[in-house]
Amino acid sequence: MIADSLIHDANQEMDVLRSAQTVIRAALEQLGYGPQYYELLKEPLRMLTVRFPVRMDDGSVQIFTGYRAQHSDAVGPTKGGVRFHPDVNESEVKALSLWMTIKCGINGLPYGGGKGGVVCDPRQMSFAELERVSRGYVRAISQIVGPTKDIPAPDVFTNSQIMAWMMDEYSHLREFDSPGFITGKPRVLGGSEGRETATARGVLICIEEAARRRAMQLPGARVIIQGFGNAGSYLAQFLHEQGARVVGISDAYGALYDERGLPIPDLLEQRDSFGTVTTRFQNTISNQELLEKPCDILVPAAIENQITADNADRIQAAIVVEAANGPTTLEATRILSDRGILLVPDVLANSGGVTVSYFEWVQNNQGYYWTREEVEQRLAQAMRQSFEKVYATSVRHQVDMRLSAYMTGIERTAQATQLRGWL
Ligand code: GLU
Repeated sequence: MIADSLIHDANQEMDVLRSAQTVIRAALEQLGYGPQYYELLKEPLRMLTVRFPVRMDDGSVQIFTGYRAQHSDAVGPTKGGVRFHPDVNESEVKALSLWMTIKCGINGLPYGGGKGGVVCDPRQMSFAELERVSRGYVRAISQIVGPTKDIPAPDVFTNSQIMAWMMDEYSHLREFDSPGFITGKPRVLGGSEGRETATARGVLICIEEAARRRAMQLPGARVIIQGFGNAGSYLAQFLHEQGARVVGISDAYGALYDERGLPIPDLLEQRDSFGTVTTRFQNTISNQELLEKPCDILVPAAIENQITADNADRIQAAIVVEAANGPTTLEATRILSDRGILLVPDVLANSGGVTVSYFEWVQNNQGYYWTREEVEQRLAQAMRQSFEKVYATSVRHQVDMRLSAYMTGIERTAQATQLRGWL
């Protein structure tokens, strides 16, 4: 168990790095690894901050700040997405890299965690500016990344087009074609079938597994999804196809709720490339109001710190599945668990994305490409196995699924660290 005082401490500032560290420490203790393991693993082994100039369309030059964190390369090269968002900061990027280590560990992928970000708002930038920022970032971090060192991928507000520009820039720098430098690419540039939908497919499998363990039928179940980006919108589509009733969705500007079920296909058609759709409607509610509405399954699929000690006791769902990274604070995790709500943590629930990124990298290395059916079947198998591993560990050790997921995920890195003779 995680001591109450530590949970409270990590929760107080809603500091995602401290929260990730708190659970890693508890997981290592539970597994019997000594304090020096925590000392090594509480921060990334390498953290690069870069500043790079970009010529904007109006002729001015803007200086952008970016980061790349490499948590641990004990298991293999580091792996993780790049986020373009105005709130990106050093501590968040570090936390996200720690989470990537756990995700890769849970799924047995031969990677450690990495993560990157650029402080910018793509919603305010032209297509050409976005391209120049993407290329500028790759030039700035190029020394520490590469197909056998650290492999980026999409994250919040980055997509396959941005991955294509980044891959092209890296290939020019290295003077050879390097598809394995980055994943989440368009299919014609070495992207994998099924990568774009992978995070949502993985979340869907976790929802199915969680529902089964709560004897809940998915057809007819009421689902709220907070966030309509890559994960949230594909998930809404898949759940709708399965006959679940999606009663609530939201974007950065507001939320829609209708207990009879929302017209998901229409909403998908009306959204823009950033997942914005609610601005077309009058009768919206806030994101915070949406989280507290009646439903059976709640899926936070947006950003961090959405379910906190302030609203956790008003959540009405029986199952919470975290498609976003870090949407629930540790204190809220404890409250939900005490109330008997089954919480499937981010590091498990959204790990379908990095799993298919791994498949993409394997295909790039082999130069041999799989069918969509093959990708989806392997993804489904991997996710079901990972869910079972984490669920069984939580039952065996009598801990919530967040702690059991970290225990499952950190063990490989701790073992690899030991076997390499680092500790
Ligand atoms: N950004 C995604 C994540 O947070 C995917 C990372 C990857 O595919 O490497 O898991």
